[in-house]
Amino acid sequence: MAEAKTGRHVLKPEQSKKYIEHLGKTAKDAKCQWCGENQWKPSDHYVVPLILTPAGEATLNNVPLIPLMLNTCLKCGNTMFFNAVVAQVFEEGDADANPKT
Ligand SMILES: [Zn+2]
Repeated sequence: MAEAKTGRHVLKPEQSKKYIEHLGKTAKDAKCQWCGENQWKPSDHYVVPLILTPAGEATLNNVPLIPLMLNTCLKCGNTMFFNAVVAQVFEEGDADANPKT
């Protein structure tokens, strides 16, 4: 299974459902702002932005992590990020939203 090889955290089915519902409820205009198409692929996992120290080194220690969901246009590749807590994929303080390093 690809997920096991990469170590990627795949959402539970109920989390994916919440994310897709969030996209459906909040989209004012679902057309891609780059190419104008309406063919999106919501991610089945989240990413976190790297936080840089004052020295410019990436760290995940002692900083709040911001889980982000992706939504990618299948025509042009334009990718949007959605805060996973706002999208209710995770609850504030949820252990899954703050993976240990
Ligand atoms: Zn596009």
